[in-house]
Amino acid sequence: MRKILNIKLHWQIFAALILAVVYGYFFSDQVKYVSWMGDVFLNALKMIIIPLILSSLISAVTNIGTGKNLGRIGLKTFIYYIGTSLMAITAGLVMFNIIRPGKGSDLNLLQDVENLNLDPTSIGETIRNIIPSNIFEALSSGNILSIIFFSIIFGYFITRVSERPRIFLTELFDSVYKVIMKLTLFVIKFTPLGVFGIVTRVVADNIDQLSNLASSMGIYMLTVFIGLVIHATIVLPLILRLIGKSNPRKHFGNMLTPLLTAFSTSSAAATLPLTMEAVEKKSGVSSKISSFTLPLGATINMDGTALYECVAAMFIAKVYGLDLGFTEQIIVVFTALLASIGAASIPMAGLLMITIILSALGLPLEGVGLILAVDRPLDMIRTATNVWSDSTGAVVIARSEGEELLISIKQKDVIKISKSHNKTSKKISK
Ligand code: ASP
Repeated sequence: MRKILNIKLHWQIFAALILAVVYGYFFSDQVKYVSWMGDVFLNALKMIIIPLILSSLISAVTNIGTGKNLGRIGLKTFIYYIGTSLMAITAGLVMFNIIRPGKGSDLNLLQDVENLNLDPTSIGETIRNIIPSNIFEALSSGNILSIIFFSIIFGYFITRVSERPRIFLTELFDSVYKVIMKLTLFVIKFTPLGVFGIVTRVVADNIDQLSNLASSMGIYMLTVFIGLVIHATIVLPLILRLIGKSNPRKHFGNMLTPLLTAFSTSSAAATLPLTMEAVEKKSGVSSKISSFTLPLGATINMDGTALYECVAAMFIAKVYGLDLGFTEQIIVVFTALLASIGAASIPMAGLLMITIILSALGLPLEGVGLILAVDRPLDMIRTATNVWSDSTGAVVIARSEGEELLISIKQKDVIKISKSHNKTSKKISK
């Protein structure tokens, strides 16, 4: 047992993933014996999310201090979120126009979409709901956007009261935050078992879809996949290196546990406790920055979802025989951005938000049924991309605030890099 515990956690999770695929494939009718472990693990994570968001955001805002600092960090965070989501959508758009999935389509996959709630919530309604009429109701129903809004203003007004309550409340929420993080560390230990339980069921439920891989659906999935890979392995690492002045490979290594968990659970919210732990403890971002940017990021920054929304909507349009011109593609870009911001960080949320784009294009909402069957594998990869972008954002903002991180590129390294660069250029010029 001790030996097993000595193996690094991400390797344990990786092994659990492989075992889950084997078990789910060969023993698909005996899944119930192990899937309960996934349910218990997810419940434990969900139990942590609300107190974590509340305490982390309140303590972050009180520690950020003045309204000016809050405004500056908030603005940078916002620019990063919108900027990277637009870059992701662009990658999806380019891949779609190169690969053109859905051309000469052999699809006849309209599924039973009755169980899905396909009513697109209007953006106005979402904004109206951000301000909760009853914060306790928002807390108990898990209305994350309202909880975020309340925490930020509550934290801000803590800084405006007199010294005694200010110090008391600041210390109180700091302490709650510390306890929740300790609790998170405890739950994290069970990730391999949880992942095994969750993935076994996912594999068993989706075995029938394997045949789809060889059809037009396979090409559609490949388009989303290549777009996500380009964004996650080229665009975000470049931002991390050039703007965040940090080592992307090291940061990626530090993030393996949350990334594998995001992949397995398909929920950026459920992964949030693990993301915060890794970004703070492993990459060294201060809790002031990570506890402000990460809960926000998990809720509104979804690069993977944005890219997926764009490709999926254009794919559905194509299958309905609609070739989107430039203006329509621009509409897709902006509605995909809004849809990704509005999507909840839970499994399949992105799929439902496609209805926003479909109604903007005047397409029937049932089009979602076309891609329903193959949503889960794409959800797994886009959720991991979402979490990767959140973590990258925390690093970039922390560096822009002058923080030295465990993954920072040191001045020495920069000199080394430029020396070796000079040598090579000399060689070339010889
Ligand atoms: N499952 C995704 C997430 O939690 C949202 C989506 O469905 O795209 O980040």
